[in-house]
Amino acid sequence: MAEKTLQTVLNRLYAADVPEKADIEYTLSIKDAAQTAELFAFADEIRQRHVGDGILLRGIVEFSNRCDNSCKYCGLNKTNVNLKRYKLTDRQILNCVEQVANAGIGTVVLQSGEQADLDSDWLAGIIREIKTRFDIAVTLSVGEKYCQDYALWKEAGADRYLLKIETTNRQLYQNLHPQMALDNRLRCSKDLKTLGYQNGSGNIIGLPDQTIGDIADDILFFARERFDMIGIGPFIPHPATALSDCPPSDVEMVLKTIAVTRIITKDSHLPATTAIGSVNGNDYRPDALMAGANVLMPNFTPLPYRQLYEIYPGKRCSTEAPGTCGPCIDMMANAIGRTIDLSRGDSLKKKRKECA
Ligand code: SF4
Repeated sequence: MAEKTLQTVLNRLYAADVPEKADIEYTLSIKDAAQTAELFAFADEIRQRHVGDGILLRGIVEFSNRCDNSCKYCGLNKTNVNLKRYKLTDRQILNCVEQVANAGIGTVVLQSGEQADLDSDWLAGIIREIKTRFDIAVTLSVGEKYCQDYALWKEAGADRYLLKIETTNRQLYQNLHPQMALDNRLRCSKDLKTLGYQNGSGNIIGLPDQTIGDIADDILFFARERFDMIGIGPFIPHPATALSDCPPSDVEMVLKTIAVTRIITKDSHLPATTAIGSVNGNDYRPDALMAGANVLMPNFTPLPYRQLYEIYPGKRCSTEAPGTCGPCIDMMANAIGRTIDLSRGDSLKKKRKECA
């Protein structure tokens, strides 16, 4: 029987087409500081080998905080009646995109809450206008929609779509999303893949009742579906939600999940999320970048709207003027011996035959 040292397990995770769940659980369970450092160093080496030293930037524009859903962990949930709702005008959105393009950033992410009455033709028009005026990749993140909507936006020029699965545990998913169904989310993700979007997923670490086995299942799902982008973030309790009294995520578990995901998925783009830069007022994005992450997402939503897009409290950079992140991001990259990569940063996965 093979020896069970951390290094042998890490080598197995890296080499396997389909890793053993037990190996993932073993790695996520390590607590010893030296072993944790060994895991992060290994993930960092794999990151360097497969995606290089450049930190890709994605300029995010949160164009509306209106949402029909009631996800129990999210401050934008519809039961939060005290939150002032907004939707940016076409002109405001295009101004934001122009700022992203002027900063030289090769990708803009258009994000909003999920609304059944989002006008698909309107969004297609915005995408077309962006593609006509700017040489920039467009990522959408507007939730679960019909395949026809995804097809319309793809045809209009959208390149990528982010739809985090949040958790693959069916019961936990149902508890957290009373109005939603895991099967529909999986259907959406499949549609996006089939339509040829660069496809994004992700999860939340530290949800109440979530186990290490659940996180291992999430990572196996990411590996099996070969996602191009995977956002892994901490649970941070929001006071205006049903989970306000729950403890926040263990940051080390978030970092270990990023590290294991990097080792297994190899060349997926993994952001050091703004959420991991906002846990208890601390910025753990550099730690994430040194544990396998390779993307940062500077925020270009104008003030004061940015403060109203509060999925979790204490969100970093919510009072800074758009476009002022440059020096801070440069400093972060310098401090860890990395460089900023302003290119589009398209998927590194081989083109899929089923989407040809
Ligand atoms: S997580 Fe998304 S869909 Fe759920 S309530 Fe928040 S904004 Fe709406």
